[in-house]
Amino acid sequence: MADIKELRCPICNRTYSPLDVTYTCPQCGPVGTLEVLYNYEHLKAQLDRDELRNELQQSMWRYKSLLPIQADSFVPPLRVGMTPFYETSRVAEALQLKRVWLKDDGQNPTGSLKDRASAMVVARAMEQGIKIVSTASTGNAAAALSGVAASVGMEVVIFVPSTAPEAKIAQLLVYGATVLLVEDTYDVAFELCSEMCLKEGWYCRNTGMNPYTVEGKKTVAYEIAEQMNWTVPDVVIVGVGDGNIIAGVYKGFWDLFQLGWIERIPRLIGVQASGSSALAHAWEHNLRPEHMQPMPANTVADSISAGVPRDRAKALRAVRQTNGAFIAVPDDEILSAIPTLARMTGVFAEPSCAAVYAGAKRAVQSKLVDADESVLLLMTGNGLKDIKRAQQSVAQGLRVQPTIESVRQALQIR
Ligand SMILES: *Cc1c(COP(=O)(O)O)cnc(C)c1O
Ligand SMILES: [Zn+2]
Repeated sequence: MADIKELRCPICNRTYSPLDVTYTCPQCGPVGTLEVLYNYEHLKAQLDRDELRNELQQSMWRYKSLLPIQADSFVPPLRVGMTPFYETSRVAEALQLKRVWLKDDGQNPTGSLKDRASAMVVARAMEQGIKIVSTASTGNAAAALSGVAASVGMEVVIFVPSTAPEAKIAQLLVYGATVLLVEDTYDVAFELCSEMCLKEGWYCRNTGMNPYTVEGKKTVAYEIAEQMNWTVPDVVIVGVGDGNIIAGVYKGFWDLFQLGWIERIPRLIGVQASGSSALAHAWEHNLRPEHMQPMPANTVADSISAGVPRDRAKALRAVRQTNGAFIAVPDDEILSAIPTLARMTGVFAEPSCAAVYAGAKRAVQSKLVDADESVLLLMTGNGLKDIKRAQQSVAQGLRVQPTIESVRQALQIR
Protein backbone atom coordinates (compact mmCIF):
# COMPACT_ATOMS: atom_id res chain seq x y z
CA MET A 1 0.00 0.00 0.00
CA ALA A 2 0.96 3.61 -0.34
CA ASP A 3 0.05 5.94 2.51
CA ILE A 4 -1.34 9.16 1.12
CA LYS A 5 0.79 12.09 2.27
CA GLU A 6 -1.65 14.75 1.18
CA LEU A 7 -4.14 15.93 -1.41
CA ARG A 8 -2.90 18.99 -3.26
CA CYS A 9 -4.84 21.56 -5.28
CA PRO A 10 -3.22 22.32 -8.66
CA ILE A 11 -4.67 25.85 -8.62
CA CYS A 12 -3.82 27.24 -5.17
CA ASN A 13 -1.32 24.57 -4.02
CA ARG A 14 -3.07 24.20 -0.67
CA THR A 15 -2.78 20.72 0.78
CA TYR A 16 -5.37 18.70 2.66
CA SER A 17 -5.65 15.45 4.53
CA PRO A 18 -7.76 12.82 2.73
CA LEU A 19 -9.65 12.47 6.01
CA ASP A 20 -10.81 16.08 5.76
CA VAL A 21 -11.60 16.51 2.07
CA THR A 22 -13.44 14.03 -0.15
CA TYR A 23 -13.79 15.86 -3.46
CA THR A 24 -12.43 19.18 -4.83
CA CYS A 25 -10.48 22.01 -3.16
CA PRO A 26 -12.71 23.78 -0.62
CA GLN A 27 -11.04 27.09 -1.56
CA CYS A 28 -11.10 26.84 -5.36
CA GLY A 29 -14.27 24.83 -5.91
CA PRO A 30 -14.81 22.47 -8.88
CA VAL A 31 -11.78 23.71 -10.87
CA GLY A 32 -9.50 22.68 -7.98
CA THR A 33 -9.43 18.93 -8.71
CA LEU A 34 -7.17 17.48 -6.05
CA GLU A 35 -4.06 15.45 -6.68
CA VAL A 36 -3.08 12.48 -4.52
CA LEU A 37 0.53 12.65 -3.33
CA TYR A 38 2.65 10.10 -1.48
CA ASN A 39 5.90 10.16 0.44
CA TYR A 40 8.13 9.39 -2.53
CA GLU A 41 11.40 9.23 -0.58
CA HIS A 42 9.86 6.57 1.60
CA LEU A 43 8.46 4.61 -1.39
CA LYS A 44 11.78 4.90 -3.20
CA ALA A 45 13.59 3.31 -0.30
CA GLN A 46 10.98 0.56 0.03
CA LEU A 47 10.24 -0.48 -3.54
CA ASP A 48 12.27 -1.98 -6.34
CA ARG A 49 10.93 -1.96 -9.90
CA ASP A 50 12.68 -5.24 -10.72
CA GLU A 51 10.57 -7.04 -8.14
CA LEU A 52 7.57 -6.50 -10.39
CA ARG A 53 8.95 -9.34 -12.53
CA ASN A 54 7.82 -11.73 -9.80
CA GLU A 55 4.42 -10.13 -9.42
CA LEU A 56 1.72 -12.64 -10.31
CA GLN A 57 -1.19 -10.19 -10.63
CA GLN A 58 -1.72 -9.61 -14.34
CA SER A 59 -3.84 -6.54 -13.73
CA MET A 60 -3.52 -2.95 -12.54
CA TRP A 61 -3.31 -4.31 -8.99
CA ARG A 62 0.26 -5.41 -9.63
CA TYR A 63 1.01 -1.78 -8.69
CA LYS A 64 -0.98 -1.88 -5.45
CA SER A 65 2.00 -0.57 -3.49
CA LEU A 66 1.73 2.67 -5.49
CA LEU A 67 -2.05 3.00 -5.18
CA PRO A 68 -4.19 4.64 -2.48
CA ILE A 69 -5.37 1.45 -0.83
CA GLN A 70 -4.22 -0.71 2.06
CA ALA A 71 -2.08 -3.76 1.25
CA ASP A 72 -4.61 -6.19 2.72
CA SER A 73 -7.71 -4.50 1.30
CA PHE A 74 -9.93 -6.42 -1.05
CA VAL A 75 -9.93 -5.32 -4.70
CA PRO A 76 -12.63 -5.99 -7.33
CA PRO A 77 -12.06 -9.34 -9.07
CA LEU A 78 -12.58 -8.15 -12.67
CA ARG A 79 -9.29 -8.16 -14.53
CA VAL A 80 -8.63 -4.50 -15.27
CA GLY A 81 -5.40 -3.39 -16.90
CA MET A 82 -2.33 -5.23 -18.21
CA THR A 83 -3.77 -4.55 -21.63
CA PRO A 84 -1.96 -5.37 -24.89
CA PHE A 85 0.95 -3.30 -26.06
CA TYR A 86 1.95 -3.48 -29.73
CA GLU A 87 4.62 -1.98 -31.91
CA THR A 88 3.16 -1.17 -35.32
CA SER A 89 5.55 -0.54 -38.18
CA ARG A 90 2.66 -0.04 -40.60
CA VAL A 91 1.32 2.93 -38.65
CA ALA A 92 4.88 4.25 -38.25
CA GLU A 93 5.27 4.10 -42.01
CA ALA A 94 1.91 5.71 -42.69
CA LEU A 95 2.68 8.56 -40.27
CA GLN A 96 6.34 8.76 -41.34
CA LEU A 97 7.56 8.30 -37.81
CA LYS A 98 10.49 6.31 -36.50
CA ARG A 99 8.55 4.03 -34.18
CA VAL A 100 4.90 3.80 -33.16
CA TRP A 101 3.26 1.74 -30.42
CA LEU A 102 -0.35 1.16 -29.51
CA LYS A 103 -1.54 0.53 -25.98
CA ASP A 104 -4.94 -1.10 -26.37
CA ASP A 105 -7.08 -0.24 -23.39
CA GLY A 106 -10.19 -1.09 -25.38
CA GLN A 107 -9.40 -4.63 -24.18
CA ASN A 108 -10.46 -3.84 -20.62
CA PRO A 109 -13.51 -5.74 -19.29
CA THR A 110 -16.09 -3.10 -20.17
CA GLY A 111 -14.19 -1.92 -23.23
CA SER A 112 -12.44 1.28 -22.15
CA LEU A 113 -9.65 2.74 -20.08
CA LYS A 114 -12.30 4.03 -17.65
CA ASP A 115 -12.27 0.59 -16.00
CA ARG A 116 -9.01 1.56 -14.29
CA ALA A 117 -10.60 4.56 -12.60
CA SER A 118 -13.76 2.71 -11.64
CA ALA A 119 -11.85 -0.22 -10.18
CA MET A 120 -9.86 2.22 -8.05
CA VAL A 121 -12.95 4.09 -6.89
CA VAL A 122 -14.88 0.89 -6.10
CA ALA A 123 -11.89 -0.51 -4.20
CA ARG A 124 -11.79 2.62 -2.04
CA ALA A 125 -15.55 2.59 -1.60
CA MET A 126 -15.39 -1.01 -0.34
CA GLU A 127 -12.56 -0.12 2.02
CA GLN A 128 -14.79 2.55 3.52
CA GLY A 129 -17.92 0.44 3.68
CA ILE A 130 -19.78 2.58 1.14
CA LYS A 131 -22.96 1.03 -0.28
CA ILE A 132 -23.96 3.27 -3.21
CA VAL A 133 -21.74 4.85 -5.86
CA SER A 134 -22.84 7.20 -8.58
CA THR A 135 -21.44 8.93 -11.64
CA ALA A 136 -22.32 11.15 -14.55
CA SER A 137 -20.77 10.02 -17.79
CA THR A 138 -20.86 10.28 -21.56
CA GLY A 139 -21.13 6.48 -21.37
CA ASN A 140 -17.83 4.73 -20.79
CA ALA A 141 -17.20 5.83 -17.21
CA ALA A 142 -20.72 4.70 -16.39
CA ALA A 143 -20.26 1.32 -18.08
CA ALA A 144 -16.99 0.89 -16.22
CA LEU A 145 -18.51 1.76 -12.86
CA SER A 146 -21.53 -0.47 -13.48
CA GLY A 147 -19.37 -3.42 -14.52
CA VAL A 148 -16.86 -3.17 -11.72
CA ALA A 149 -19.59 -2.55 -9.12
CA ALA A 150 -21.50 -5.59 -10.42
CA SER A 151 -18.41 -7.72 -9.77
CA VAL A 152 -18.68 -6.91 -6.05
CA GLY A 153 -22.46 -6.43 -5.74
CA MET A 154 -22.33 -2.69 -5.11
CA GLU A 155 -25.29 -0.49 -5.98
CA VAL A 156 -24.85 2.10 -8.76
CA VAL A 157 -26.81 5.17 -9.89
CA ILE A 158 -25.91 6.50 -13.35
CA PHE A 159 -26.58 9.86 -15.01
CA VAL A 160 -25.98 9.80 -18.78
CA PRO A 161 -27.16 12.12 -21.54
CA SER A 162 -30.12 10.42 -23.24
CA THR A 163 -28.15 10.74 -26.52
CA ALA A 164 -25.36 8.38 -25.37
CA PRO A 165 -24.59 5.58 -27.89
CA GLU A 166 -26.98 2.64 -27.56
CA ALA A 167 -24.31 0.05 -26.88
CA LYS A 168 -23.10 2.04 -23.89
CA ILE A 169 -26.61 2.44 -22.45
CA ALA A 170 -27.23 -1.28 -23.01
CA GLN A 171 -24.09 -2.09 -21.03
CA LEU A 172 -25.34 -0.11 -18.03
CA LEU A 173 -28.71 -1.82 -18.02
CA VAL A 174 -27.23 -5.27 -18.48
CA TYR A 175 -24.92 -4.73 -15.50
CA GLY A 176 -27.95 -3.82 -13.42
CA ALA A 177 -27.26 -0.14 -12.73
CA THR A 178 -30.07 2.31 -12.04
CA VAL A 179 -29.91 4.41 -15.19
CA LEU A 180 -31.11 8.00 -15.44
CA LEU A 181 -31.20 9.19 -19.05
CA VAL A 182 -30.84 12.95 -18.67
CA GLU A 183 -32.56 14.97 -21.38
CA ASP A 184 -29.62 17.34 -21.69
CA THR A 185 -25.84 17.46 -22.18
CA TYR A 186 -23.13 15.63 -20.27
CA ASP A 187 -22.22 18.88 -18.54
CA VAL A 188 -25.75 19.23 -17.17
CA ALA A 189 -25.88 15.55 -16.17
CA PHE A 190 -22.62 16.10 -14.30
CA GLU A 191 -24.06 18.92 -12.19
CA LEU A 192 -27.20 16.95 -11.47
CA CYS A 193 -25.23 13.92 -10.35
CA SER A 194 -22.89 15.98 -8.13
CA GLU A 195 -25.85 17.58 -6.42
CA MET A 196 -27.67 14.30 -5.83
CA CYS A 197 -24.51 12.70 -4.43
CA LEU A 198 -24.00 15.51 -1.93
CA LYS A 199 -27.67 15.47 -0.92
CA GLU A 200 -28.02 11.68 -0.66
CA GLY A 201 -24.53 10.83 0.60
CA TRP A 202 -23.76 8.56 -2.38
CA TYR A 203 -20.08 8.20 -3.17
CA CYS A 204 -19.44 10.22 -6.33
CA ARG A 205 -17.10 8.93 -9.02
CA ASN A 206 -17.55 12.05 -11.18
CA THR A 207 -14.48 12.69 -13.30
CA GLY A 208 -12.17 15.30 -11.80
CA MET A 209 -14.40 15.74 -8.77
CA ASN A 210 -13.23 12.41 -7.33
CA PRO A 211 -9.45 12.62 -6.71
CA TYR A 212 -8.94 8.86 -7.03
CA THR A 213 -9.95 8.31 -10.68
CA VAL A 214 -6.57 9.68 -11.78
CA GLU A 215 -4.86 7.22 -9.43
CA GLY A 216 -6.53 4.36 -11.28
CA LYS A 217 -5.87 5.78 -14.72
CA LYS A 218 -2.20 6.42 -13.99
CA THR A 219 -1.61 2.66 -14.04
CA VAL A 220 -1.72 2.78 -17.85
CA ALA A 221 1.51 4.81 -17.75
CA TYR A 222 3.06 2.32 -15.32
CA GLU A 223 2.23 -0.48 -17.73
CA ILE A 224 3.65 1.36 -20.72
CA ALA A 225 6.92 1.89 -18.85
CA GLU A 226 7.05 -1.70 -17.62
CA GLN A 227 6.13 -3.13 -21.05
CA MET A 228 8.95 -1.03 -22.55
CA ASN A 229 11.35 -2.31 -19.90
CA TRP A 230 11.46 1.04 -18.09
CA THR A 231 12.13 3.19 -21.10
CA VAL A 232 9.44 5.56 -22.39
CA PRO A 233 8.31 6.82 -25.82
CA ASP A 234 9.26 10.37 -26.78
CA VAL A 235 5.61 11.30 -27.21
CA VAL A 236 2.31 9.90 -25.93
CA ILE A 237 -0.88 10.98 -27.74
CA VAL A 238 -4.20 10.85 -25.88
CA GLY A 239 -7.84 11.67 -26.69
CA VAL A 240 -9.06 14.44 -24.37
CA GLY A 241 -12.52 15.47 -23.20
CA ASP A 242 -12.53 16.21 -19.46
CA GLY A 243 -8.75 15.86 -19.33
CA ASN A 244 -8.73 13.19 -16.64
CA ILE A 245 -7.02 10.51 -18.74
CA ILE A 246 -4.19 12.78 -19.85
CA ALA A 247 -3.84 13.89 -16.22
CA GLY A 248 -3.62 10.23 -15.23
CA VAL A 249 -1.02 9.44 -17.87
CA TYR A 250 1.04 12.38 -16.63
CA LYS A 251 0.65 11.37 -12.98
CA GLY A 252 1.76 7.82 -13.75
CA PHE A 253 4.94 8.91 -15.50
CA TRP A 254 5.51 11.61 -12.86
CA ASP A 255 5.29 9.03 -10.03
CA LEU A 256 7.80 6.78 -11.81
CA PHE A 257 10.11 9.71 -12.37
CA GLN A 258 9.95 10.61 -8.64
CA LEU A 259 10.87 7.01 -7.84
CA GLY A 260 13.80 7.12 -10.27
CA TRP A 261 12.29 4.24 -12.28
CA ILE A 262 12.27 6.19 -15.57
CA GLU A 263 14.65 8.86 -16.82
CA ARG A 264 12.17 11.30 -18.25
CA ILE A 265 8.47 12.03 -18.73
CA PRO A 266 7.24 11.78 -22.35
CA ARG A 267 5.80 14.78 -24.13
CA LEU A 268 2.02 14.57 -23.91
CA ILE A 269 -0.20 15.58 -26.81
CA GLY A 270 -3.93 15.85 -26.21
CA VAL A 271 -6.32 15.39 -29.12
CA GLN A 272 -9.73 17.03 -29.03
CA ALA A 273 -12.57 17.16 -31.54
CA SER A 274 -12.88 20.52 -33.34
CA GLY A 275 -16.48 20.72 -32.11
CA SER A 276 -15.44 20.26 -28.48
CA SER A 277 -12.06 21.88 -28.10
CA ALA A 278 -12.10 23.91 -24.88
CA LEU A 279 -8.66 22.70 -23.83
CA ALA A 280 -7.08 23.17 -27.26
CA HIS A 281 -8.48 26.70 -27.19
CA ALA A 282 -7.16 27.40 -23.69
CA TRP A 283 -3.74 26.04 -24.61
CA GLU A 284 -3.53 28.09 -27.78
CA HIS A 285 -4.57 31.28 -26.00
CA ASN A 286 -2.51 30.58 -22.92
CA LEU A 287 -5.54 30.74 -20.64
CA ARG A 288 -5.40 29.77 -16.99
CA PRO A 289 -7.79 26.94 -16.09
CA GLU A 290 -9.75 29.11 -13.66
CA HIS A 291 -10.43 31.60 -16.46
CA MET A 292 -11.80 29.12 -18.99
CA GLN A 293 -15.42 29.66 -20.06
CA PRO A 294 -17.89 26.95 -21.14
CA MET A 295 -17.48 26.11 -24.84
CA PRO A 296 -19.73 24.26 -27.30
CA ALA A 297 -19.46 20.46 -27.29
CA ASN A 298 -20.68 18.92 -30.55
CA THR A 299 -18.86 15.96 -32.00
CA VAL A 300 -19.38 12.40 -33.24
CA ALA A 301 -16.80 11.38 -30.62
CA ASP A 302 -19.13 11.31 -27.61
CA SER A 303 -16.45 10.30 -25.11
CA ILE A 304 -14.46 13.47 -25.73
CA SER A 305 -17.44 15.79 -25.80
CA ALA A 306 -17.11 18.17 -22.84
CA GLY A 307 -17.94 21.87 -22.81
CA VAL A 308 -16.47 22.37 -19.35
CA PRO A 309 -13.51 19.97 -19.08
CA ARG A 310 -13.64 18.95 -15.44
CA ASP A 311 -9.95 18.22 -15.05
CA ARG A 312 -8.82 21.26 -17.03
CA ALA A 313 -6.29 22.35 -14.43
CA LYS A 314 -4.39 19.08 -14.45
CA ALA A 315 -4.79 18.54 -18.20
CA LEU A 316 -3.27 21.92 -19.05
CA ARG A 317 -0.48 21.37 -16.57
CA ALA A 318 0.31 17.92 -18.01
CA VAL A 319 0.72 19.37 -21.48
CA ARG A 320 2.56 22.53 -20.42
CA GLN A 321 4.95 20.72 -18.09
CA THR A 322 5.96 18.19 -20.72
CA ASN A 323 6.32 20.67 -23.57
CA GLY A 324 3.45 18.92 -25.31
CA ALA A 325 0.48 20.33 -27.21
CA PHE A 326 -3.24 20.16 -27.81
CA ILE A 327 -4.65 19.54 -31.28
CA ALA A 328 -8.23 19.67 -32.52
CA VAL A 329 -9.39 17.40 -35.36
CA PRO A 330 -12.63 17.63 -37.35
CA ASP A 331 -15.26 14.89 -37.17
CA ASP A 332 -14.73 13.67 -40.75
CA GLU A 333 -11.08 12.93 -39.99
CA ILE A 334 -12.07 11.17 -36.77
CA LEU A 335 -14.54 8.93 -38.61
CA SER A 336 -12.19 8.06 -41.45
CA ALA A 337 -9.46 7.21 -38.93
CA ILE A 338 -11.60 4.32 -37.61
CA PRO A 339 -11.15 2.04 -40.66
CA THR A 340 -7.66 3.39 -41.44
CA LEU A 341 -6.37 2.38 -38.04
CA ALA A 342 -8.31 -0.89 -37.94
CA ARG A 343 -6.98 -1.98 -41.35
CA MET A 344 -3.38 -1.29 -40.38
CA THR A 345 -3.45 -2.79 -36.90
CA GLY A 346 -6.50 -4.94 -36.26
CA VAL A 347 -7.44 -2.55 -33.46
CA PHE A 348 -11.03 -1.33 -33.77
CA ALA A 349 -11.29 2.04 -32.02
CA GLU A 350 -14.33 4.05 -30.98
CA PRO A 351 -14.37 7.62 -32.37
CA SER A 352 -12.69 9.33 -29.38
CA CYS A 353 -9.90 6.88 -29.69
CA ALA A 354 -9.60 6.94 -33.49
CA ALA A 355 -9.22 10.71 -33.00
CA VAL A 356 -5.77 9.95 -31.64
CA TYR A 357 -4.67 8.62 -35.02
CA ALA A 358 -6.15 11.66 -36.79
CA GLY A 359 -4.39 13.90 -34.27
CA ALA A 360 -1.08 12.11 -34.73
CA LYS A 361 -1.30 12.66 -38.46
CA ARG A 362 -1.88 16.37 -37.99
CA ALA A 363 0.84 16.59 -35.36
CA VAL A 364 3.37 15.19 -37.83
CA GLN A 365 2.16 17.45 -40.65
CA SER A 366 2.38 20.55 -38.48
CA LYS A 367 5.80 19.48 -37.12
CA LEU A 368 4.55 19.25 -33.56
CA VAL A 369 6.07 15.79 -33.69
CA ASP A 370 9.39 15.16 -35.38
CA ALA A 371 10.00 12.29 -37.83
CA ASP A 372 12.71 10.84 -35.58
CA GLU A 373 10.51 10.74 -32.49
CA SER A 374 8.96 7.56 -31.13
CA VAL A 375 5.24 7.83 -30.44
CA LEU A 376 2.70 5.88 -28.43
CA LEU A 377 -0.95 6.14 -29.41
CA LEU A 378 -3.19 5.48 -26.44
CA MET A 379 -6.19 3.42 -27.54
CA THR A 380 -8.78 4.26 -24.92
CA GLY A 381 -11.99 2.64 -26.13
CA ASN A 382 -13.29 -0.31 -28.13
CA GLY A 383 -14.97 0.30 -31.50
CA LEU A 384 -17.91 -1.97 -30.64
CA LYS A 385 -19.03 0.75 -28.23
CA ASP A 386 -20.34 2.90 -31.06
CA ILE A 387 -21.43 0.87 -34.06
CA LYS A 388 -23.46 3.69 -35.56
CA ARG A 389 -20.38 5.86 -36.05
CA ALA A 390 -18.31 2.91 -37.22
CA GLN A 391 -20.91 2.16 -39.89
CA GLN A 392 -20.79 5.77 -41.04
CA SER A 393 -17.06 5.40 -41.63
CA VAL A 394 -17.23 2.53 -44.12
CA ALA A 395 -19.06 1.38 -47.27
CA GLN A 396 -21.76 -1.26 -46.94
CA GLY A 397 -21.15 -4.95 -47.53
CA LEU A 398 -22.04 -6.58 -50.87
CA ARG A 399 -25.55 -8.05 -50.94
CA VAL A 400 -25.78 -11.33 -52.83
CA GLN A 401 -28.21 -14.12 -53.62
CA PRO A 402 -27.02 -17.52 -52.40
CA THR A 403 -25.69 -18.47 -55.83
CA ILE A 404 -22.19 -18.71 -57.30
CA GLU A 405 -23.28 -16.48 -60.10
CA SER A 406 -24.44 -13.74 -57.76
CA VAL A 407 -21.19 -13.91 -55.76
CA ARG A 408 -19.14 -13.72 -58.95
CA GLN A 409 -21.15 -10.77 -60.12
CA ALA A 410 -20.74 -8.95 -56.80
CA LEU A 411 -16.99 -9.57 -56.82
CA GLN A 412 -16.76 -8.75 -60.54
CA ILE A 413 -15.15 -12.11 -61.25
CA ARG A 414 -15.68 -13.37 -64.79
C1 LIG B 1 -13.35 9.25 -21.41
C2 LIG B 1 -12.68 8.89 -22.66
C3 LIG B 1 -11.73 9.73 -23.26
C4 LIG B 1 -11.37 11.08 -22.71
O1 LIG B 1 -10.98 11.10 -21.36
P1 LIG B 1 -11.10 12.43 -20.51
O2 LIG B 1 -10.62 12.08 -19.18
O3 LIG B 1 -12.55 12.83 -20.54
O4 LIG B 1 -10.26 13.46 -21.19
C5 LIG B 1 -11.14 9.31 -24.43
N1 LIG B 1 -11.44 8.12 -24.99
C6 LIG B 1 -12.35 7.29 -24.44
C7 LIG B 1 -12.66 6.01 -25.12
C8 LIG B 1 -13.00 7.64 -23.27
O5 LIG B 1 -13.91 6.82 -22.76
ZN1 LIG C 1 -7.33 25.30 -4.36
